[in-house]
Amino acid sequence: MTTIPNITLNNGQTIPQFGFGVFQIKPKDTTAAVSRALRDGYRHIDTAEMYGNEAEVGEAVARSGLDRGEVFVTSKLNNDAHEPGAARAAFDATLKALGFDYVDLFLIHWPLPARYGGDYVSTWKTLEEFYREGRARSIGVSNFQPHHLRRLHGETQIIPAVNQIEVHPYLTQDDVRAFCAEHQIAVEAWSPLGQGSVLDDPVIRSVAERAGKTPAQVVLRWHLQRGDIVFPKSVTPKRVKENIDIFDFQLSAADVEDITLLNKNERTGPDPDKFGGR
Ligand code: NAD
Repeated sequence: MTTIPNITLNNGQTIPQFGFGVFQIKPKDTTAAVSRALRDGYRHIDTAEMYGNEAEVGEAVARSGLDRGEVFVTSKLNNDAHEPGAARAAFDATLKALGFDYVDLFLIHWPLPARYGGDYVSTWKTLEEFYREGRARSIGVSNFQPHHLRRLHGETQIIPAVNQIEVHPYLTQDDVRAFCAEHQIAVEAWSPLGQGSVLDDPVIRSVAERAGKTPAQVVLRWHLQRGDIVFPKSVTPKRVKENIDIFDFQLSAADVEDITLLNKNERTGPDPDKFGGR
């Protein structure tokens, strides 16, 4: 069985550095996809209220025969529920849908600086309640820029355990990552494969040929060696197996650097400073 490294978060909790993302997996396909991933050795699932498939994730965990404590599950607060009362109701609904009495990690999905009068601070204080109650073992944010994090730091008590941001070879985010490292905030890299867009890159293909691995495996390995947490998504059984088969090789420091130099600051998703939520 594959040994997936754990990362220790700033509150002492541990998170598997590698997992399975379920964005854009249709609810009707989610239980089967997550069940397959769990059979293949995945032990970390990343969902969100927005994805509409929390119930199906919970069902796959329940059916797996694994203890609840063996699977790390993250969900995220929806953009329409930042106001504290709405956030409490949304979090209750998340736990109910998953069928759990706690989530391992709960995130503010987007900072939405142009909505709610720019008040993501009250939203964060509401997540602090979930943490104190033990219903979220860790809390964090997603798509926060350093200036959003600085504001939380000044006005709230708990430092986010993670910041989940878009990172891949065409968007290396080294400034946000350095800020997070300095403040003991673990980085989770969403769309780690750039939703597939980086896999035809000639540099990545040539590293893959030399390593005897696929481009996707090389890119995922690049993330792990940079210290980020990743959870690629696929519904194709062969790719789900391929993506987790990355713990038997190492990239050289030069290969890591060559891939990092591919950065073009090219986002596949929205700019967090502008995004108003859908
Ligand atoms: P990804 O980079 O994981 O790419 C997924 C796509 O890449 C697949 O649909 C498939 O087309 C392709 N792919 C996957 N494995 C492959 C392989 N081995 N070979 C060739 N092609 C392959 O993109 P993603 O799904 O957007 O991101 C992963 C996870 O990140 C999501 O499922 C979700 O959990 C999270 N996410 C979070 C946010 C956020 O705002 N917090 C936004 C987007 C995604």
